[in-house]
Amino acid sequence: MIYKRSSALFLEAEKVIPGGVNSPVRAFKGVGGTPIFVKKAKGAYLYDEDGNRLVDYINSWGPMILGHAYEPVVNAVTEKAKKGTSFGMPTEIETQIAQLAVSMVPNIDKIRFVNSGTEACMSAIRLARGFTGRDKIIKFAGCYHGHSDSFLIQAGSGASTFGTPNSPGVTKGTAKDTLLARYNDIDNVKALINANKNEIACVIIEPVAGNMGCIPPKNNFLKALKTLCEANNILLVFDEVMTGFRLAKGGAQELYNIDADIVCFGKVIGGGLPVGAFAARNEIMNHLAPLGPVYQAGTLSGNPLAMAAGLAMLNALNDDNEVFNRLADKTEYLHKGITKVLSKNKITHTINRVGSMISVHFDEAEVVDFETAAKGNNETFKKFFHGMLNEGVYIAPSSFETWFITDALSYEDLDFTISAVDSVAKNLL
Ligand code: PMP
Repeated sequence: MIYKRSSALFLEAEKVIPGGVNSPVRAFKGVGGTPIFVKKAKGAYLYDEDGNRLVDYINSWGPMILGHAYEPVVNAVTEKAKKGTSFGMPTEIETQIAQLAVSMVPNIDKIRFVNSGTEACMSAIRLARGFTGRDKIIKFAGCYHGHSDSFLIQAGSGASTFGTPNSPGVTKGTAKDTLLARYNDIDNVKALINANKNEIACVIIEPVAGNMGCIPPKNNFLKALKTLCEANNILLVFDEVMTGFRLAKGGAQELYNIDADIVCFGKVIGGGLPVGAFAARNEIMNHLAPLGPVYQAGTLSGNPLAMAAGLAMLNALNDDNEVFNRLADKTEYLHKGITKVLSKNKITHTINRVGSMISVHFDEAEVVDFETAAKGNNETFKKFFHGMLNEGVYIAPSSFETWFITDALSYEDLDFTISAVDSVAKNLL
């Protein structure tokens, strides 16, 4: 494939934007080469500036669960825009999307909308600290909760790809309040809690990790975590920025039948516009300004265009009782197909999958935490990534990322992808 115009655009971008991108994972630093510039997208396909068509497995890192330029979302946003794009005053649509979200997600009474997943997680831990009167939090190595200071401690996603899981600029004072645990290791969490009795406000976790590739919680890990938190008056925060409105209507809480105390959202909830949210039961949410003392605010929070996109998206997901099964079936089909062709070509690999989240690790050991995720063969991944790109399939340019399956993918697209893996696998060894 030819990427002449993308390469030229990237050279121009680099002159005025650091690294040529507005979010590091978009750069091809982890895999080499220059990023693809997108001209437009529709359904399951991206069309780049050179006229190439790519089957998209990133889907804006999750939001486009029903495909690009999904008509109900496009129409809702277009209609709203004609009536004004921001007021900084309440609008009815904010209540409508809040009512719908509260009806779909278990164990939440109120929800506050923000502008990104970062803001959602940052605000959630402030609320947890304000509610409990404690300072420390526990996070898991390899989990990513956005780029606010408290979370850039052994962070996953781009931070791991670029070898900066602990970013300069985060003060020692902030870092000391973030305790680090091993994913899927309940004894490790127990030990941390015992060593910091009555000091921990919350444990924040991606209930299905998606930022060190996809890593499912082991049997009963989330249940044990919930029990442990309850016994120690620690709030359990589910970061459902990836899993929310993706794994089920009620996200991972519904899938694993576990009530979290605070839940964070992003991606799907905004239908592709910049939206995040955090939610909890009344007892906790009423601590938030203007009802309570924990401050949190936003000029563009609840923005009408963003709310219109989010409402159209949530309505579509709420009205379709089969959508999550369809997504899981497609992902399973892809999983089986890729396993078959990689095995046939004798490529060492492990595939992890939950619902419509899937990732391919080039290592044979089970991938259960950051340490095992980091053992994957990155040289093989690089070749795999560029091979797939050449075949017209776009996966995330990092082995620490998850593929997000969209309902717009047809079984023909999946077969096309599996054939592409077969062709690429022949040259991987
Ligand atoms: N939490 C999780 C689990 C995420 O995957 C992400 C982004 N990938 C974030 C938080 C941060 O969201 P945003 O990029 O919208 O700030």
